[in-house]
Amino acid sequence: MPSPSFLRRFLEKPVPEPEELGIDHAGASLPVTFIRSARARRASLRVDPARRRIVLTAPLRMARGMAVGFAEQQAGWIAARLKRLPDRRPFVDGAEVPLFGAPHRVRHRPDQRGTVWVEGDEIHVAGRAEHLPRRLRDWLTAEMRKRLTPIVQAKAERVERTVKRITVRDARSRWGSCGPDGAMSFSWRLVFAPPEVLDYLVAHEVAHLVHMNHGPRFWALAERLCDGPMAPPQAWLKANGETLMQYGA
Ligand SMILES: [Zn+2]
Repeated sequence: MPSPSFLRRFLEKPVPEPEELGIDHAGASLPVTFIRSARARRASLRVDPARRRIVLTAPLRMARGMAVGFAEQQAGWIAARLKRLPDRRPFVDGAEVPLFGAPHRVRHRPDQRGTVWVEGDEIHVAGRAEHLPRRLRDWLTAEMRKRLTPIVQAKAERVERTVKRITVRDARSRWGSCGPDGAMSFSWRLVFAPPEVLDYLVAHEVAHLVHMNHGPRFWALAERLCDGPMAPPQAWLKANGETLMQYGA
């Protein structure tokens, strides 16, 4: 519970709406989203790969000019990061989409009715073209849940804990999470990642059922729950995480 004085301060000073800035750099205007945060202690910049933007976060009380000045000083970094963002990978006929790490080609089948199915290394999507992205995404989300549920249950059994609920959703900042009530959620985009990445993330969240921190005992348990070594999937996520955010975007 926040203290009343905290609440009063919070109510007196509402958090302003995000603001779209253009930071001048080498003759171009770089798009930066400026956000005020009650928790921020200093100005900072981060990449938001899902929305393909750079976010400037500043404390509520910092002068606007000071925050913008910080971003201007970092214009070179902003330009480099924007340029490095992977290309968008929209869901269209002919698109290449990995299914648990295995490349598949999307085939639109307007002559067929209703469903999505796999034939060899192709994912066939029936129905009208304008429904293809939505239909494919719903199917991928369902595939992810099907694959995920038994892995979560098997690992939870090993630590003799129960999982209250498994949610598959479009999380933009985390691949998985585990609440103190035993509710877990995972990003549907892990459907694109190799199986060992999913295995590692499940081991990670199940270890949180026992240790709600990232201490040495947590990591020792996560390692035991993992089918293989943890370093390769961690490195894979670091290298490919931003690409996973571009599918169906
Ligand atoms: Zn964690």
